[in-house]
Amino acid sequence: AKENGKNTFQFYDEALHRQLAYKMEIENGLRKAFDNKEFSLVYQPKVELKSGEIIGMEALLRWQHPKLGFISPMEFIPVAEETGQIVNIGHWVLKEACRQNKLWQEQGLHNLSVSVNVSVRQFQDSSFLNKVSSILEETGLSPRCLELEITESIMQDITHSVDILTQIRSLGVKVSIDDFGTGYSSLNVLKDLPIDTLKIDKSFLENMSDSMNSTMIKSIIKLGLNLKLNVIAEGIETTEQMEKLIENQCNLGQGYLFSHPLPPEEFSMLLQKGSFS
Ligand code: C2E
Ligand code: CA
Ligand code: CA
Ligand code: CA
Repeated sequence: AKENGKNTFQFYDEALHRQLAYKMEIENGLRKAFDNKEFSLVYQPKVELKSGEIIGMEALLRWQHPKLGFISPMEFIPVAEETGQIVNIGHWVLKEACRQNKLWQEQGLHNLSVSVNVSVRQFQDSSFLNKVSSILEETGLSPRCLELEITESIMQDITHSVDILTQIRSLGVKVSIDDFGTGYSSLNVLKDLPIDTLKIDKSFLENMSDSMNSTMIKSIIKLGLNLKLNVIAEGIETTEQMEKLIENQCNLGQGYLFSHPLPPEEFSMLLQKGSFS
């Protein structure tokens, strides 16, 4: 038994060690990623479900590591949040998305808004608001063509968050609550949040024929509409899901059914078409 206990410990120790080593490799890699231009953005269309018209896009970060290859944001964003690197990375994302959107507008493609994911750490950074307004100034993008996607975790510091959100929106920038229904969320607080849009997390769509999930989605849509918010669904993969959403008055969405996130050159061809009908 003693022997066994020791082995278990060694195994745990090794796994932990590997995990730490991997994290350190990510952290060091992130530090070099800027200089080596390893980051890029891809764009996924937001669609009006009934008409198929493209009404906006979400910018998503991609990292091509020289040794490890493509690393998913699900892996490196949490590390970057922990180390604080997300503040600089997020700043780059915001600037690049605004620059690209302005460029598309100058090329005569539709004046759409670009949505950028903002992590809570970034949002809480005291210079965040200044950064947003100087990026808008620098790139010349209209504030109306920028939307920030934040998560429910900002509700933890509600007074401060309401304050920042109010200021962001007074710039003309739109705000949406991402991954809605998955995080720390108080319905009581939701009604006081100065936001424009509720984004239903894709986990609710995964098994829509499951009656529990179906009920959840319906409730979230109703909640959003009652609060006079736009409601958008992410992760739409099938026409069946799309039809269910339309049936329940959710008329905005994004997902593989329409398009995967695409690099700028490919996305601009989509923009030229303008719709999926
Ligand atoms: P998210 O903001 O909830 O983004 C949606 C994720 O779902 C994206 O994954 C997108 O590629 C994926 N997706 C889109 N349509 C479908 C679909 O029909 N089915 C399925 N199964 N998935 C779909 P991605 O790009 O890997 O990003 C994962 C997460 O990483 C994002 O979740 C977001 O939380 C974070 N992230 C990505 N880019 C950034 C960024 O620039 N800044 C910050 N702070 N976080 C980011
Ligand atoms: Ca998002
Ligand atoms: Ca999500
Ligand atoms: Ca998210």
